[in-house]
Formats: sequence, C-alpha cells, structure tokens
Amino acid sequence: MDIMDVDETSAPREGKPVLVILVGAPGSGKSTFGEEVMRSSTRPWVRVCQDTIGNGKAGTKAQCLSSATSALKDGKSVFIDRCNLDREQRSEFIKLGGGPQIDVHAVVLDLPAKLCISRSVKRTGHEGNLQGGKAAAVVNRMLQHKELPKLSEGFNRITFCQNVDDVKNAISTYSTLGPLDSLPHGCFGQKNPDSKIQVGIMKFLKKAEVPLAAASTKSDIEEPTSQTPGKNNSYCKEKETLASIPENANLETKEVEGQAVGSAGSHDNQVCLNDIPTLAFPSISTSDFQFNLEKAADIIVAKVAEFSSKFSNARLVLVDLSHKSKILSLVKAKVAEKNIDTQKFFTHVGDITHLYSRGGLRCNAIANAANWRLKPGGGGVNAAIFNAAGPELESATKEKVKSLSPGNAAVVPIPSSSHLFTREGVTHVIHVLGPNMNPQRPNCLNNDYNKGCKILQDAYTSLFEGFASIMKNQPGQQVGRSEKLERKSLDVPVRSDYSSRKYFTNTDQKSKRDDDHGSEKSKKYKGTQDGLGLTFPDSKDEKVDSEHRRTERSMSKAWGSWAQALHQIAMHPEKHKGDLLEISEDVVVLNDMYPKARKHVLVLARTGGLDCLADVQKEHTQLLNKMHDVGLKWADKFLNENASLVFRLGYHSAPSMRQLHLHVISQDFESTHLKNKKHWNSFNTAFFRDSVDVMDEISSVGKAALKDDDKLLSMELRCHRCRSAHPNIPRLKSHIGSCQSPYPTHLLQNGRLVPAPGEPRNSVQ
Ligand code: AMP
Repeated sequence: MDIMDVDETSAPREGKPVLVILVGAPGSGKSTFGEEVMRSSTRPWVRVCQDTIGNGKAGTKAQCLSSATSALKDGKSVFIDRCNLDREQRSEFIKLGGGPQIDVHAVVLDLPAKLCISRSVKRTGHEGNLQGGKAAAVVNRMLQHKELPKLSEGFNRITFCQNVDDVKNAISTYSTLGPLDSLPHGCFGQKNPDSKIQVGIMKFLKKAEVPLAAASTKSDIEEPTSQTPGKNNSYCKEKETLASIPENANLETKEVEGQAVGSAGSHDNQVCLNDIPTLAFPSISTSDFQFNLEKAADIIVAKVAEFSSKFSNARLVLVDLSHKSKILSLVKAKVAEKNIDTQKFFTHVGDITHLYSRGGLRCNAIANAANWRLKPGGGGVNAAIFNAAGPELESATKEKVKSLSPGNAAVVPIPSSSHLFTREGVTHVIHVLGPNMNPQRPNCLNNDYNKGCKILQDAYTSLFEGFASIMKNQPGQQVGRSEKLERKSLDVPVRSDYSSRKYFTNTDQKSKRDDDHGSEKSKKYKGTQDGLGLTFPDSKDEKVDSEHRRTERSMSKAWGSWAQALHQIAMHPEKHKGDLLEISEDVVVLNDMYPKARKHVLVLARTGGLDCLADVQKEHTQLLNKMHDVGLKWADKFLNENASLVFRLGYHSAPSMRQLHLHVISQDFESTHLKNKKHWNSFNTAFFRDSVDVMDEISSVGKAALKDDDKLLSMELRCHRCRSAHPNIPRLKSHIGSCQSPYPTHLLQNGRLVPAPGEPRNSVQ
C-alpha cells in the first residue's frame, strides 16, 4: 500500500490555473468526472474533449491543444478529456503547463477493466460513439497498452482512482478547489504502483476473450470495493456480477478475484480524503528515552489492537519522519501478524506537524512525546509541535495541566489562532509522557523493563482514551452540512460530522459533556463508563471557560485553508483595503465574492474566536446589534439606488466560511452563482436565520437556535414568495423572475424583510 513519491517540500502555491490531464480507458468516467466538478466548482473550468471538439464532433489532438492553450491563457483551469493512456499522448499536454504559473495534474481513472467495458457497452449517445459491442474490444486493447503516469513526466500531482469511492473523493477534491486554492503536490492514492495492469484485470481480460455464452440478466454492477483495504489480507476476494451486456459483447459473466491491496498495515503517505477522525502519534519513549524498540513495537501493536477494535469509525496512525524508521518497520511487521483492520491503523512517513499540508493526511488530533514539565524545547517531536503550534499551545497547555507523570496523557484543545489548527486542521494535541530508559535524562528506570513496559502501556492507554474522549465530546450539531454546502466533504478534517455513535461501537449516546479530557487520568478521571470500557471525566467536575467552549464548538468544524478567507480579511482588513466596502473597529463589510443575488454583501465580525453563529453568546449582543445596523445601512444605500429591491439579513446556521458573517442579500436571487439546491435552500429555508431573530434569541437566552439539518438544504426547490415547487434551478429562476406574489406572512413580520425606505413593511410584494 505504499505510495510513490510525495513531494513534501513543495508547498502548494496559490491561485493559479490547473491543467488536469484525465487518464483512463473509455468508460472509466472521464467526462462525468469533468462535468461533475464543473457543476459545483467555484473555479472557472473548461473541459476539452476530443470527442466533441470539432463542432460537437470528434476532432484532433491539435484542436485540443489549441483550445486548452487559450483557456489557460484566460486563467481558466482545464480538463483534458481524452484517454491519455500512454506517456507520449500526455507529453504535449504536459508542456502546456511549462512553468510555475500552471499546476499540471493527472487524475488516473484506473478502474477495473470489466467495469469500463460494461459501462461502454451499455451506454448510448456517447459523445465519441464508442458504445455497444465494439466498445469491449477497444477498451480491452487500450488497457493492454496503458502506461500509468509518473511525476517525472512533468506532473505536479497525480491522483490515482482505483474504485468508485476514490473517484468520488477526487471529484470532491476538485469540486471544492476554489479559485485561490491549490492542492498539495505529489502522488496520491496509488495502491500498487508497480503493477501495470491489475491482477483482477489480467484475469478478466483473459476471460473476456471467451465468447459469451449467456449474458447475465442482473441489472446492477456491484462496484468493486477491493481497493479499500479490508482485513489483514494481501488479496481481497470480491464478487462481482456484470451488468446486462448486449449479446455481441465479448464477455462472460463470472466471479472474479479482486486485485492486490498492498501490504498489511501500511498506508505510507496515502492521502486520506475521508472524514474519519484520526489520531496521529509518534512512537513514545523510543527516541530520546531510549526504550527498547522491539518491546515498544509489541506494546504499540497490542494497544492499537485493543483500541482499534473499539472504534467503529476512527483511525490511529503511527508517524515517523523517515522511511528508514526502525520502529515503523517493526510495527508494520508485527501488525501484519495480527488481525488489525488496516482502515483503523496504519503507518505514515512524514512530519507530524505537516501531515495535511505536506502529506494530505487529515488528523483531528496529534500526540506529542512530551516532557514532564510540558514545556517547549528539547528536540524531536516536542520541539516540532510547540514550534508549529506557536505560543498558543504553551498557554493552552498551561491552562489545562501543569505537569505530567510518566504513563499519562493530557488532552489540550488547540486555540483556533494556532497554525496547527488553521493550516493542518488539528484540533487537539495530546501530550504523552512515557518511561525513560536514558541515564542522561531525569527519572531513568535503569533498565527496569518490568516497570518500563507497564508505564509505556499506560501511556498508550491514556493517549487512546484521550483521543476517544475528544470524539465522544464532539457536539455533533453544526456539523456536516457546512462542509457540504460549498465545499463538500474534502477540504478539511471533518471533525464532528459524526456523533460518537458513528465513531465507536457500543457507545452510550446519552452522556454529552463539555469537558475535554483535560488532564492526567489518574488525577481527574472520576467519570463514567461509556460502554467502551473507557472512563471519561464527568463534566460537572470540570470548569469550562468560554475559550474552551468556543474551541469545542469550533473543533466540530475545522476550517480548511479555502474557508479562511473571511477570517483573514476580518483579522487583517488593512491588507484587503481595495476589496472592502467599510472597515470599522468591530466590523468589515465586503461584497460577497460569489453573490447569490443582485446585491449581496457580507458584514464580518472582527472579534477573534467568533467563527460562526454557534460561537455567539450573550456577551456578543452588542456586536450582533452593530452588525445588524451596519447591514441595514448598506441595504438602505442599495435601496436608495434601486427602490425595487427588497433585502433580508441573516446568518447561515452552519456557514461554510470561518468568521461570523451576516448576509445582506437582495431577494431577486438573480445570479449566475446561484447554481444548486444547496445555494437556494441556504437562503430560503429555516437554515437561514434572520438577524432580527438571532438578536432576540441571543439577548434573551444567550444562544441562537441553529437549524443545520442537512434535510433543509436538500429540500425541494420552492419559490420564496408563492411557495410553488420547481424541478430545477433554471426553472425556479425563470419563475422567480416573474413571480409577483406577496411574500409569506412570517417574512413580513418583525422586520425580517427590508424594503425601500418609506415603504410599509407589509406592502412588500
Ligand atoms: P456561508 O455559507 O454563510 O459561510 O457563506 C459564505 C459566503 O462567502 C458565500 O456566500 C460565498 O459566496 C462567500 N465567499 C466565499 N469566499 C469569499 C471571499 N474570498 N470573499 C468574499 N466572499 C466570499
């Protein structure tokens, strides 16, 4: 499962066009890939498809090259939608990148041959007319000559997709790539770099030579899942039934064996785009503290086995800096002998402080091999983590716990101003102290491995319990939806899209606490059993300060780099002067970059730590009033210019961008940026919280009701005036362009709608 080269040194650059060379056989889904991304992306894309480039008919490679060149010149990103299965075919397109101004990517749709053939055979109306029986032979022939791309050809990034889930993840990655974003460089997702043709494909191709005796009548292909490592096997058996295939197709309905899934327990540098809560940890005590490596590896594997079996949906990742790491090799070898699910535990080579930005691995929590004083400095992981996190970690640590005794761990939420949080998406550091076998260091155990092993076991137990407590305390409220509204699931470590029920097997959902496992278990664990056999502190005993509460809320959603734009603007408005409509001590006003109506501005709070509505408390009443007043002022200004407009002011229950912001939006919804159901419903269902209501709730009960149910965003499309239903956005838009019905009564009340000055509220029509 090892992956080839990940270029950790090349920090992603910002805001340039991307040239994506799609690589895949007919039927692998290249066109769908491009179309799906373009449907939801905020970045301008052009799909250059050789099958249609000649006025809707097949054209030449030269036409594709010229069309791609001009799109790139215009600053657009481009999909090259042709098979590109060999190096030579790709080389001319790669040259279009030709410098640091354009990122050149390959997305390899390396799906099982049988799936591509089956899709090609079944399809009708294909742009290139490759369908029906002839498709099978063509796909078959092409795949025998495929050459998988390599970074050395000139690609900055290659994403390998070997099953439908990989494809979905890659679509999500590119869909959420905003105009200013860029993706880490390197090679991602390749399960089996050396094999030119997957084992399963080889077998299948052999079988495909056999004339079809009787085509299956089953109608659904079961998409293969064998790339997902299952248990500890090198090969996963997969059963697959081919879809109904025309009789002239040269295929046979067979059960086939899946392909190799790589070595057990090792996903080195494999990018994880999943939303799975993840703890990355270094080996404890084996570096400075000189603990015996063999013994340490045994303990790691035993503890991982114990805990991973309790997680239903969480991952533990052992990290070390080098591929040559002895402890990684030992652990990998030992893990291979145990029945540990490779989804739940794997090893990773990389810097624990740059797991996401350089290695693409998303982790909620990272463990620190700490010193007993919990101070920065020393060397190794401790120095690296304190350095990367900045002074915020030291003070947050100090607040939680003063010192640590060997065998214990302490969970510290990372303040949201820390780089580890903003850049890497890490919400918690868990400091762990292991046993010391180094005579040069304090508290040496003088080779007493009876004691040492016990302490190291305790240290891992405490570490994994700490991780469990973080997940258990996810609020799980404002979750999920927000990732999906504008960026879907990729961008960042999704924290609490999950309730703890999703993380664990057999977890008692009833207890929901505010604590965060703040200190050594021996001192503070007075808690309850949670069904995991784990003990958690009882929140009533914990003092929860407002920063802590805020961090806990925010940790339910770590913000990806793309989601930071508003936060950056609010914190450093002086750097964005040209783009801002107004700057004051408390707020900043700017035009929404993707306005969903003729007039759409955002009023940003400038207060640090106010990421979203969930963070707002009574103490922010004045700020909310101020934001509302400023919003009204801008609405009035626009209404003076155009009295036919009507405005609504409000907040998204679960925003996609970090930093509390008030939407001031005209109710015409005339905008090319309003593209999908989620856009519409985020402004026209209860998900949109009117500013007047929010102010009332905050001043009366101290918190705003959040309506962040996913269902709201996927509701049918209804006109916001007459409530008539419409099948799609174009039809809805054409309706609202002419709908003259009065607004619904509830919008006419309490100042929720803002018409031109002088107009009586209830006459808004
Ligand atoms: P929300 O879902 O409430 O977080 O809405 C975020 C809003 O910010 C959306 O309407 C986006 O169109 C808008 N937006 C995203 N990026 C930027 C940006 N860089 N500058 C201004 N507005 C932005």
